[in-house]
This record gives sequence, C-alpha cells and structure tokens, in this order.
Amino acid sequence: MEKIDNLLDKIVSLCKRRGFVYPSAEIYGGFAGFWDYGPYGLALKNNIKQLWWKMFVMDRDDMYGVDAAQITKHEVLQASGHVSGFSDPLADGSRFNTMFRTSAGAGEETATAYLRPETAQGIFTNFKNIIDSFHPSLPFGIAQIGKAFRNEISPRDFIFRAREFEQMEVEYFVKPDGWREAFGLWQKKMHEWIDAVGIDAKKVYELEVTDNERAHYSKRTIDFEFDFPFGRKELYGLAYRTDYDLSNHAKASGVELSYLDEETKTKITPHVIEPSLGVDRTVLAVLCSAYTEDEMNGEPRIVLKLKPAIAPVKVAVFPLLKNKPELVKKAREIFRDLKISIGAVVFDDNGNIGKRYRRQDEIGTPFCVTVDFDSLEKGDVTVRARDTGKQERIPLPDLSAELKKRLG
Ligand code: ATP
Repeated sequence: MEKIDNLLDKIVSLCKRRGFVYPSAEIYGGFAGFWDYGPYGLALKNNIKQLWWKMFVMDRDDMYGVDAAQITKHEVLQASGHVSGFSDPLADGSRFNTMFRTSAGAGEETATAYLRPETAQGIFTNFKNIIDSFHPSLPFGIAQIGKAFRNEISPRDFIFRAREFEQMEVEYFVKPDGWREAFGLWQKKMHEWIDAVGIDAKKVYELEVTDNERAHYSKRTIDFEFDFPFGRKELYGLAYRTDYDLSNHAKASGVELSYLDEETKTKITPHVIEPSLGVDRTVLAVLCSAYTEDEMNGEPRIVLKLKPAIAPVKVAVFPLLKNKPELVKKAREIFRDLKISIGAVVFDDNGNIGKRYRRQDEIGTPFCVTVDFDSLEKGDVTVRARDTGKQERIPLPDLSAELKKRLG
C-alpha cells in the first residue's frame, strides 16, 4: 500500500471532526498529555477492550479478571521499585519520578499515595486473594483493563504518549521452569491479537530488548513495535518478570505469596510472563492501519477500513429522501428493528445520500442500508458495502440475519 502523506495530521483531524478524540480541556487551550474520547472513539475503545477480554479471559479457562483501585498505597509501589526507580532523566542530569503523587485522607490520617503507573501491581497484590477464592492450578493468569498514569516529561504524538492512558495486562503465573514455553505461547497470542483487532501485521516488528535496556525486573523482553507515522515505536511489551514482584511484595508485606504444588507438596513462588498492551496505542495503530484514501464513483474519499467487530457503528439506515414521510417512516421502522438485533446502528437523513455515505465511510461503518420507493412496493432495501461500494438489494425479512452474517 502506498504511503499516505501527513497521516498523523489527517487522523488527528478526522478524530476531532467525527467525534473520536478531542484535546482535553480544549476550551481552555488543551492540556498537554490528556485526551478525551468522544462517542465514536469511546465505542471503538470499548469494542477493542471487549474483544481483548473475550479473547484473553472469556474464551479461556485459566484466566481471572480483576478491577483493582487506581490510587495505590505507597507501600505497594515502594516494594515494586517504582518509588525509587520509576523515573526519567531531565535535561540537567537529575531524574524525575513520573508517578503522579497524591494523598488520601485528612489531618493526621493523611497518607501518601500514587495514581498507578501500571495496572500490574494491582494484580500482584491480589494474587493471594485469587488463590484463596478460586484455587487455580498453575499455569494461570490474572487480567486487568484499566487506567494508568505517568507524568511523562514530554507527552507527544497524539494519544501515543499520554499522561493518562489505559492498559490491558495479563500476569501469567507459571512454574519457574515453565517460563520459556509460556513466553513462546504468549508471543504467538500477541500476533493473533494484532490480526484480530485489525492492526497491519506488515508494520509490526519484534524487538528483542537487550540486557542493558531491559527493566530491572525482567530476564527477557520483546517489544512489539509498529511503524507509526512518526517512526517505528513500541506498541506492546511482552516481559518475563521472574518472581521479582511476588517475592518483593511477600518480603515487604510479611505475607506469604506462594503456591502449593500438589504434585510435589512443596511451596513455590510462581514466575510471571506479562503481555502488556496499551489501549490508546492500539486505537492509534488500528486507525493508522485502517485509514485509506481512494476513489469511488470518480470522487476521492476517506474510508476507515475497520474490522466490523471494532467499528463504532455497524450499520447506518437512510431514507433516500428526507422530505418523503413514507420513506422516513419505513426507514425508522427498519432502524428500530436493526437496533434491537445488531445494537450499534444509526439513522441518518441529513444531506444527500452521497454525503451520508462519505460520513459513514469516514467513521468506518461496514454497511449502509437505504430505503427507497421500490422498498415500499417490493419490501427490499439497498445494502451498500463500505470497502467495495458494491450495492445489492436484500429482502426485508432476510435483512437482519444477512447483515449479522456479513458482520461476522
Ligand atoms: P515507552 O518506552 O514508549 O515509554 P514503556 O516501555 O515505558 O513505553 P511499558 O511500561 O512497557 O511502556 O507499558 C506497557 C504498555 O503501555 C506500552 O507497551 C504501551 O502500549 C502503553 N503505554 C506506556 N506508556 C504510555 C503512554 N505514556 N501513553 C500511552 N500508552 C502508554
């Protein structure tokens, strides 16, 4: 595929124009490193998170989900090494801790706390709870989707490097000698995910992170890099974290964080494989992969070729003409029916039909359904496919089932 000039600018502008992503506090001049998601961006993000949760939690029998507090006790992040080590160098040679510090409680009860810089620690601190409530056997994983906060010194490149963002993380617990096998399986899973969500696999590269560049807790890390318009940059990470976190939390808390191996009747501290995925970087990589400029019926158009599973709107329903009540009535009826069976369906009678197609193409709607005078007589509608522009007539009784089949 040919390279698109100024791709990032075009995506930023589409995101603003069409209600995906807005600069935070925009009426006050914006707020560096912070972004607000509008209706379609929120829908896209939710669909991405749902797909991830389905693939990595719901479809498996070895995964447990948690939703831990975002404001994190000082002791947790001290034991994990973040209080002393989670810093970036400043220009003058000193280091700046990039955690957002806050305090909980009033008066003498005030305690220093932090907005979590990663979701992982809330998983480690719940390790014993999951063992006690569910008695899983190794290997098993704990998954979490949620916000993370980093006071990045120079936030940039749209939602790529933000100060508030979201992560989808798994801590996968294995026997110490099982880490290589688990690492390989997760490496494969990452590629399956990249395909499933619609990130262009040809732009993804694995980078084996060298000894000096790896985080202190990791014995092996692969960065999954993506060719963003501003260069090849980290999209996801896959790290072997050893027993670093569980051991440190056990030491600091005085609570045993181990697993009883039923076979050998010995207690072990599991080792951990961590696939860590940024939601916002996924959104950006998906948009970069889907953004297409082509020509349809001799006119240039912009189209987001999103996978139907993550498209914010699945189907748009139009009456051919706005000022014909019988068409509008029929279209509204079809819209209501499809909304019940498919969900993310919109009704649009604004502007001419060409304009409506353009609008839906720009937000990546896979199918448009148009109700015309023939529809009233013959009981069928025109269904137009986003990527090819191909139109065909489908009888109303088959419409919902047919659309569902095509949406996959
Ligand atoms: P980078 O080197 O780009 O700062 P990192 O190595 O610090 O990233 P991790 O700590 O491995 O990132 O975080 C896991 C994932 O969280 C990253 O792969 C990325 O998808 C996401 N992520 C990290 N920092 C940010 C950020 N500032 N804005 C958006 N997403 C982020």
